[in-house]
Amino acid sequence: MEKELLYKQKSAYEIISDDEVKKAYDYCEDYKKYLNASMTERLAVKTAINLAEKAGFREFQPGKEYKAGDKIYKNIRKKALILAVIGKMPIEAGLNIAGAHVDAPRLDLKQVPMYEDSEIAFFKTHYYGGIRKYQWVALPLALHGVVALMDGSTVDVSIGDEENDPIFVITDLLPHLAADQNKKTLGEGITGEALNIVIGSAPDKEAEKDKVKYNILKILNEKYGITEEDFLSAELEAVPALKAKDVGFDRSMIGAYGHDDRVCAYAELRAIMECQAPEKTAICILADKEEIGSEGVSGMQSQAFESFVSELCKIQGADMYRCFENSFCISADVLNAFDPTYPEVSEKRNNAKINYGLGVCKFTGARGKSGSNDASAEVIGKIRRMFKEDGVVWQLGELGKVDQGGGGTIAKFMANRNIDTIDAGVPVLSMHAPYELVSKLDCYMTYKGMAALYKSK
Ligand code: MN
Ligand code: MN
Repeated sequence: MEKELLYKQKSAYEIISDDEVKKAYDYCEDYKKYLNASMTERLAVKTAINLAEKAGFREFQPGKEYKAGDKIYKNIRKKALILAVIGKMPIEAGLNIAGAHVDAPRLDLKQVPMYEDSEIAFFKTHYYGGIRKYQWVALPLALHGVVALMDGSTVDVSIGDEENDPIFVITDLLPHLAADQNKKTLGEGITGEALNIVIGSAPDKEAEKDKVKYNILKILNEKYGITEEDFLSAELEAVPALKAKDVGFDRSMIGAYGHDDRVCAYAELRAIMECQAPEKTAICILADKEEIGSEGVSGMQSQAFESFVSELCKIQGADMYRCFENSFCISADVLNAFDPTYPEVSEKRNNAKINYGLGVCKFTGARGKSGSNDASAEVIGKIRRMFKEDGVVWQLGELGKVDQGGGGTIAKFMANRNIDTIDAGVPVLSMHAPYELVSKLDCYMTYKGMAALYKSK
C-alpha cells in the first residue's frame, strides 16, 4: 500500500532491460553522426532532408492529392524544415506535432568582418543566442555558411571540420598579465567586441597595406571566388570545431556542441522517419531562430507553418482552425539537468536529472511563470497515459529555482495557435556551453516519447 501511495522517481538504468540499454547506445551512434554533420541550422536541415529522402519522404507539392501514409517535407528557406506523414483520420481530427529547433548559440560574422591589426588578420563577430562569452575564447572554431553573390548564385563555405582543415581561434589574456581583467565579473571579463577571431598572419609581399588581410582575400578569392564586398551578403557562423564524443569511462554520456536542440530534433526526425500510416497526421518541425525568440521568417512565430498546414487542409476541404484546435504538440526542447557542482541554482525535488528519462516541463518562463506556455493538468494527464503505454521513462522538470532565472521555447507560439502544447526534452548539463553534456538513455527516451506521440490518437 505504501508503495502505491508514494511517488518515487527512478533512474532509467533501474527500469529498463540490458537489451534496451544496448538499443539506446546504438541509437546514440546514429545521433552522433547526425550531430557531426549538422553544425549549423542550414546543415541540420540539409542532413535531415538527406535522411528523410532515404526514408521515402518527398518534397511537398501544393495541390497534389496525398493519402494516408504519404511522407512529405517542406523546406522553409533552407533554415527550417517541416516533415509530415499523412494520417488515416481526417486532418480536422488534429495533428500530432513534435517541434524542436536546429539553431544553436554561436558567433555570426559581422557584415564587414575582416580587418588587420598589428599584422594579424581578424573577423569581427556578433554573437547569436545566449552565450557565456568567456567560454568562447581559446577554443578551436570552424566556419560554416553561405555567401550570396551578385550574379544570384550562392557559395557554400565549410572549413574546420575535416581532419586536415585549419581552424580559427579567439585569443585570451595570459594569466601573467590578467591582473586587471581578473577583477572584473565573469560576465564583464570578455566583451562582445572582444570576440575577434584570428584568421591569419602571413603577408602578401606585393600588397601596399594590410598585407595579411590582402593575402587572405586572395586565398578566399581563389577558393570561393568571393571578394571582400561579398561578405555584405554572407551568413557565416563560427561554431566550436569539436566532434561529438562519448563521455565517461562507462560511455554513458555524449559531449558535443549543439545538443540544444539538435538532440530533440534528431529524436523527432528518427521517430517520424519510422512512422508508418499513423492514425493522426504526424508533423515534425525543425525550427530556426528559437535561440533569439523564434523571430524571423524561419522561426516559429512565422506564418510558414500555417502556410503549410493550410495547404494540407485544403486537399481535404478541411478547416485549419478546427485542425489546430484538435491538435497536440510536444515542444521538444532541452531542459537543464541538476548539476551537483552547482546545487544552489536548482530546487532538487523539481529539477530534471540525467538518466531519469525524457524531461517534461509544465511551464518555462521566468519569475511568476511570465513568458510561459504553462500546459494544463489535462495535457500532462494525456502525456502520462501515453508514455506509460509505450514504456517511455520520463520525469517532470523545472528550470532551476523560482527566482534564479528562466528561459523559453517554441511552446508558447504553438499554444498561441490554439494547439495544446507541452514542453519535453533531454536534460542537459552545461547547456549553451560550446560543449554540452547529455545522457544516452535520455536521448533514447526522448526518441521513444516522440514515437509514442506519433502513434497516439
Ligand atoms: Mn532549446
Ligand atoms: Mn537554448
